[in-house]
Amino acid sequence: MHKCIFCHKDVSISKSVEHIIPESLGNKSHVLPKGYVCDECNNYFARKVEKELLAMPYFISMRSRNNILSKKGKYVKNKFLFPSILQETDGIIEFSEDAIDIFLESPEVFDAINNKKCNTMLSLYLPEPEYPSRIVSRFLAKCAYEFFLYQMPREMYDECVDEFMQDTSPNKSLENIRKYARYGEGEFWEYSQRRIFSEGTLWVNEDSFVPFERLHQMKLFVRETSHEGDDKIYAEVYYILEMNGVEYSICLSDTDISEYDKWVEEHPGQSPLDDNKEKQLPFGIYDVNPLLIRKDTI
Ligand SMILES: [Zn+2]
Repeated sequence: MHKCIFCHKDVSISKSVEHIIPESLGNKSHVLPKGYVCDECNNYFARKVEKELLAMPYFISMRSRNNILSKKGKYVKNKFLFPSILQETDGIIEFSEDAIDIFLESPEVFDAINNKKCNTMLSLYLPEPEYPSRIVSRFLAKCAYEFFLYQMPREMYDECVDEFMQDTSPNKSLENIRKYARYGEGEFWEYSQRRIFSEGTLWVNEDSFVPFERLHQMKLFVRETSHEGDDKIYAEVYYILEMNGVEYSICLSDTDISEYDKWVEEHPGQSPLDDNKEKQLPFGIYDVNPLLIRKDTI
């Protein structure tokens, strides 16, 4: 019998495919196949973690300006303010090849614009999620725990899951992050957050020279430390995630992020996600889309 990696209940009748990052953030490829996360847990994360994450002002603002559609192919609704007529309304921005179209819900605002009574529109422009946030922390804990399995070769998944379940396994250290992600148990799990490149940055790979954008990247990063007067080497494993130019890091076994912060301090301008084969182009999509954020302006 297969068991769910989060609640340890039978997963054999579950139909869910588990997206490590929600589809509504543009993720199509980082997926755990059916049979590892049960429908109930999948549903729980969708309702209690991801929905709240997507409702954070930063994620609304970021998805709106980057044109990231929802799972159902819908544009993100954002709030727009019109200071000269003291009104606000929900609306959507759509980018097409030759225009930016804005659809506003309020007929009053629409009339005021038509009658030239207002010519200024503002919307929230947030470069990063508010920090620290319990929702981001639990989302990262969920992603980190799932990614630990995801990064294994596919044929080792079952063996790895068996180890997750055993009390004596060395992976017992993942118990705390599992319970925190799924049930919110235990103390707040600290994480690191920082912008490492601009939204809309274009990259090229040495081997192909076809420009591309990075939406998500993730990896496990091992940091070894030794303590003075002690010849033992300690290692901590971090889950590093980049989404739209913001890097997030969380430790798999420890709620404390200070060792990672030290690494960042000792390696200015670097990220564990850096790939020497990939180079940043000197121009990006932000040069043609004024809604995007340039790293050097924040
Ligand atoms: Zn479950």
